[in-house]
Amino acid sequence: MKQILLIATGGTIASRPTENGLAPELCAEDILGCVPALASLCHIDALQLMNIDSTNMTPERWIAIADCVKDHYFRYDGFVITHGTDTMAYTASALSYLIQNSAKPIVLTGSQKSIYDQETDARRNLFDACLAAQDDTLHGVLLVFDGRVISGTRARKTHTKSMNAFSSIDYPDLALLREGKILHYIRQQKPAGLPAFYEKLDSRVFVLRLIPGMNPDVLLSLLPAFDALVIESFGVGGLPCYEQEDFLAAVHAWTREGKPIVITTQVPHEGSDIAVYQVGARAASLPGVLQAHTMTVESVVTKLMWILAQTHCLERIEQLFYTPVAHDLLRFE
Ligand code: ASP
Repeated sequence: MKQILLIATGGTIASRPTENGLAPELCAEDILGCVPALASLCHIDALQLMNIDSTNMTPERWIAIADCVKDHYFRYDGFVITHGTDTMAYTASALSYLIQNSAKPIVLTGSQKSIYDQETDARRNLFDACLAAQDDTLHGVLLVFDGRVISGTRARKTHTKSMNAFSSIDYPDLALLREGKILHYIRQQKPAGLPAFYEKLDSRVFVLRLIPGMNPDVLLSLLPAFDALVIESFGVGGLPCYEQEDFLAAVHAWTREGKPIVITTQVPHEGSDIAVYQVGARAASLPGVLQAHTMTVESVVTKLMWILAQTHCLERIEQLFYTPVAHDLLRFE
């Protein structure tokens, strides 16, 4: 029987009604006790790392989760992390950078309803997550939800209430889970060698959603407090050019200080291509201005945090940013 470690962090799956709405109160053992069928699937040890609504997730807590996996890595065949759905895609991305080259599955899951709710999706998601965590071919950071196995860098919460809360953005699901069985859509070669664990993130990354007519002074006011700026632009990507060139000047103020700017898009699918329009090409010509291509915003943000914890050299930042990690970066060739 495979040995699985369940790391509980809170979320709706562990919630109970309180006077002020749902709050995570159930412990890892309570959650496990709700799915007796797991006893015949694998041996599971449970560990309560935190018990939070994932709205309160932080980069420090991502590091604590990665450290926990690292501390137990060689004693278990796979890991299941129960987590709130609201920031689960960010955590899946962050862990994909903090834990690389893992031959073992590290599976995030949660639910839209508490495991104590009669109509819950929690029992199925937890069972499926354990099924994925003890699978011989799956590996790396994965998100399992509503019968789907999604690569950690491609996941996004796309429904606030429905059971199919997560989508794989511009990348196929890796596998499908039905009635205790796995159908592999994509079989990937397991990484050879040891996993690489990282222990630092630079949380000074800001995401700015552009709106028509935005004053470029916003960029200048953010500059002292942050080390990188992600601009969620329009369409394939561009920066406004009103009467003056103030927007480009504000971008230049960032890159002059060695702080990268990444242009991404507000459009949910197909990513950026800032060379297409003059409004994008002008920005692209500035050194230190990068683009997300098909990376999700969750991946862009956490990849920058991971990179900036290692270097502040713009050239090296660019090199690391455009080096694919766990399917995060796909480009038309
Ligand atoms: N607010 C909850 C959380 O993210 C929502 C959920 O788990 O579905 O912790």
